[in-house]
Amino acid sequence: MPTLLRTLLWSGLLLVCGCASAPSSRPAARAAEGARAQLAILESTDIHSNILSYDYYKLAEDRSIGFERMATLVKQARKEFANSVLFDAGDTIQGTALADYQALVKPVDCNEELAMYRAMDALGYDGGTIGNHEFNYGLPFLAQVTNQPMNVEGIAARHCAGPHYPLVLSNAFSVRDNQPIYPPYAVLDRTLTLRDAEGHDIKAPIRIGIIGFTPPPIMQWDKRNLEGKIYTKGLVESAREYLPKLRAQNVDLVIAISHGGIDVSPYGSAMENANWYLSQEPGIDALLLGHSHAPFPDPHNAKSRFNNLPEVDNQRGFIHGKPAVMGNFWGKSLGVIELALVQRNGRWTIDAAATHSEVRDIKKTDGSFVAPDPAIDALIEPVHEATIAYVSTPIGDSDFAMTSYFAELGDVTALQPVNMAQHDYATSYIERNLPQYANVPVLSAAAPFKTGFSGANDYTDIEAGPLAIHNAADLYLYPNTLTAVKVDGAVLKGWLERSAQRFNRIDPTRREAQELVNRKFSGYNFDVIQGGLTYAIDVTQPTGMRITNLRYLGKPVDAAQTFIVVTNNYRASGGGLGACAKASDTRSRRLEPQLAFRAGGDCRPDPVHVRDGQARPCQGRWPRQCALAEGQRRRYGDLRGGPCRGANPEALTAHRLEFSGGFIGKPLPPTIDAAARMATRGITALHGS
Ligand SMILES: [Zn+2]
Repeated sequence: MPTLLRTLLWSGLLLVCGCASAPSSRPAARAAEGARAQLAILESTDIHSNILSYDYYKLAEDRSIGFERMATLVKQARKEFANSVLFDAGDTIQGTALADYQALVKPVDCNEELAMYRAMDALGYDGGTIGNHEFNYGLPFLAQVTNQPMNVEGIAARHCAGPHYPLVLSNAFSVRDNQPIYPPYAVLDRTLTLRDAEGHDIKAPIRIGIIGFTPPPIMQWDKRNLEGKIYTKGLVESAREYLPKLRAQNVDLVIAISHGGIDVSPYGSAMENANWYLSQEPGIDALLLGHSHAPFPDPHNAKSRFNNLPEVDNQRGFIHGKPAVMGNFWGKSLGVIELALVQRNGRWTIDAAATHSEVRDIKKTDGSFVAPDPAIDALIEPVHEATIAYVSTPIGDSDFAMTSYFAELGDVTALQPVNMAQHDYATSYIERNLPQYANVPVLSAAAPFKTGFSGANDYTDIEAGPLAIHNAADLYLYPNTLTAVKVDGAVLKGWLERSAQRFNRIDPTRREAQELVNRKFSGYNFDVIQGGLTYAIDVTQPTGMRITNLRYLGKPVDAAQTFIVVTNNYRASGGGLGACAKASDTRSRRLEPQLAFRAGGDCRPDPVHVRDGQARPCQGRWPRQCALAEGQRRRYGDLRGGPCRGANPEALTAHRLEFSGGFIGKPLPPTIDAAARMATRGITALHGS
């Protein structure tokens, strides 16, 4: 407890002297009964270290993203509203090559503040929470860069340069002492400017409580970093534990900063997006959400996932009557709750009828983007340049293009190098260390990480020719490590069946266009398994019954046949595909693949997703691959033929997507090998160390 108290006090000290939105130190009298004030609660979320409007994979400006442009929206809002506070809802420090550079390539010193936090401090924040991706680089790194000494195994008790605002997190606890690893909440004393009855501007104090939450499944997603060190509790359980203590601090209102979305399915303590339930806790007055990479409210979007949910107002931004907002990701937008406050019984309360939320985009209605805040670029220029120099390091060359534009249709150009690298590494590892498995066939699973979720630029696209590290990073986005699992033929088929949920069910008797890709099933969970395996996905069949002609080296796969499948730590700990690829006894140490074994396994399709297997009418949209820029379509349209030719829906004739995954087809030139090795970070580090 002393550590916690110290941190709270320390955070408090910083707040008094710190940010742009901090109050003047002039004492203010409490506002009169019935007095009204407006407070804008500004929210960033899922910045994912996109500080600048720059794409480190393509080495090109991307004006559609960037904290530096969102910062301009913050400054505009601060001019617009007499009172504002700014919070961040997490997934802040991971997601670009710049982030990897500062965490893995040239790790920041204890006395050096992370570039992302430097940029945020330049803008001035009042608080924030910890998202799931904050844990990707491990707890020692997180403790260091957030200056949060944790009483956790392997973490030095020291102070380092961290953000100049309090980070709160109420549902992650140290195994060692059962205390929260961050202060669960903080109290912010601020001064509001409001107008009195005579029309004069006056000042009045307000006490704001903030409480933070992260998705409990981090224990699964980052098992290798967290297992045995910390544990999580459900959002509601943690809220009930800490809200009474926070409320006892005599706060006017409590804002939950929760890295998670809105899910109305039954509550559980491991629920990923439990904020529909959190919003029902009486101690919470407003919610700042994230993680879903989708704006809320989204009043003009007929396809918004937040439409038609009970007790969710996707027009004005309310959940169970509480104002809430979720900004979009990568700095594309700023969340704003325009809170109307009324002084009642000696404290500020929310006038819900006069309150609403909105998400403000950096993209203007004319299609252009707001200008970047010049202060940000100047601040991080050296690390930006160093990152570009690093990712420009040559690693080989290729005589063919590698893309993920048509990965769903069986184009493995961007997956085969990854699978080859994984296969190659695991095969020689087994040869050297595990001779007892020398006769078990080794397969490799890889998913296309970039499949257009955030627009037509969001694809892996590597020209033939010289290759550099940024190309390898384009092939493999995440700081995963390698894991191998032993499965039987039945599990293998189930694994592919789960992956095939990427497709809607197509009704071949219908003449009108049908949407092939099931957007509710993320592209990064669409595993393509290679290494001598061939199979077809029959999209006319319901989920769970689509994998046909499954063969290994030309022979049908037997349900009892044994395979080793090389995958990543995320999948092997149950991420994305559930039990299918899960290694129940994985103890995958960083940079060292461990073979984990399980017999059989329950691999039936998740019932929640069965409805996605139904044929759905096309809403005038074709698979998004077909909506690519004209040049890209020219380049790949003829080559791939089939459903995308000429973007003509009538041309959908093939209902089977063939995956010839045996490292056959176009052979990779020897020089690709270097790039292939770079393609998984675990392998990179192993070969480099
Ligand atoms: Zn997240």
